[in-house]
Amino acid sequence: MNTAHSITIIGNGVAANVLGFYLRKSERFKDAYIAKVYDDDLFKPCSLLTTSHNCLRNAQRGLSDLGDKLVDAADEFKSFYENYWPRGVHPCPHKHYWREDYAKAHKLARRYRGLEYKSTEIPYFPSDLSTSLWTADNEAYVIESEYYLKWLEEQTKYNEIRVESVKSIDDIKSDIVVLCTGQYTRYFADIFDNDQHVNGSKPVAGTYLEFKYSDFKETNEWFDKGFCFDLEEVNVVFRPLTQTVLIGATSTLNKNNYLDDASVNSMYQKTAELLNGTLNLPSLEKGRYKTGIRHKGHRRLPFWGKINDRTYAVYGLYKNAYTFANLAAKDLLSII
Ligand SMILES: Cc1cc2nc3c(=O)[nH]c(=O)nc-3n(C[C@H](O)[C@H](O)[C@H](O)COP(=O)(O)OP(=O)(O)OC[C@H]3O[C@@H](n4cnc5c(N)ncnc54)[C@H](O)[C@@H]3O)c2cc1C
Repeated sequence: MNTAHSITIIGNGVAANVLGFYLRKSERFKDAYIAKVYDDDLFKPCSLLTTSHNCLRNAQRGLSDLGDKLVDAADEFKSFYENYWPRGVHPCPHKHYWREDYAKAHKLARRYRGLEYKSTEIPYFPSDLSTSLWTADNEAYVIESEYYLKWLEEQTKYNEIRVESVKSIDDIKSDIVVLCTGQYTRYFADIFDNDQHVNGSKPVAGTYLEFKYSDFKETNEWFDKGFCFDLEEVNVVFRPLTQTVLIGATSTLNKNNYLDDASVNSMYQKTAELLNGTLNLPSLEKGRYKTGIRHKGHRRLPFWGKINDRTYAVYGLYKNAYTFANLAAKDLLSII
């Protein structure tokens, strides 16, 4: 294995920025010429249109390839967090709540394997829930993407950052090129030695609502720390630095436009109903609708590895990009 002297990363999302950081902190690449090229106006990064939080929700090793990867990735993220204390990352307890008659209650019971219990307790607010719900406890990290990505970029000290749209990898003069291009990776399919996985990947749009914390009446110590919890399939995330509360998100396969999914309104209604008397949501009109396009890999599996002679790729990180990005970077370091 030779050490590359110059590496160009295409992309400016979480995959790109975590990889840049790992390269720069590594013994082999600390002095390499590391460049980052992206065009976020033309290719909107999903990493800034996201409810980004990391939570395993009792995923276990030994059940599926995806589960194994996720648990390995969560371990890697934890040790990264404890080493570097990155800006914009807030560890917090996470709770998952659901009603007895929730259509997917059996799936959640299977997921939590008897660890679930009935409770009205909700730690983030002064008063408890008005009705008792099935509850499961997890650990999580709320990740404020803008702060986190900026911090990663500062730490990496890129030799060069270019805002430009890449049409052909041949135009890039460096020893190694890494595509961290999210759902747009499909447009590079012709340079893959084996294009089966990338051609089997799909865009999946997600819409969520963003509220300003100043539009809420309640206050609590958790509003300084950050928190997240699930009400059935709805994620509620509070970001303390940006002072916003996110509620969502929808999931529409094969949709890659930025039009809002109206079904986010029913997520808002459910959240308002279940939190009634505990947290009063601002009116729906106060919410800002935001849509991001995730990238679902073939068979839901993420990909990181070599795709041709001098090119590598990280893509298909789907709903767990903020966890997977670290394991992807760590693994790439051992094969580049
Ligand atoms: C509503 C919603 C909620 C989500 N919640 C979570 C969550 O809780 N936890 C989690 O881990 N994940 C979550 N995700 C998923 C996560 O946000 C994405 O999977 C992740 O951001 C993808 O990151 P990426 O770096 O792979 O790609 P992106 O962030 O999409 O970045 C792609 C980059 O490639 C660049 N690019 C592409 N093509 C070119 C080109 N030809 N030339 C130059 N530049 C190019 C773009 O400019 C961009 O910077 C959520 C997603 C959505 C939509």
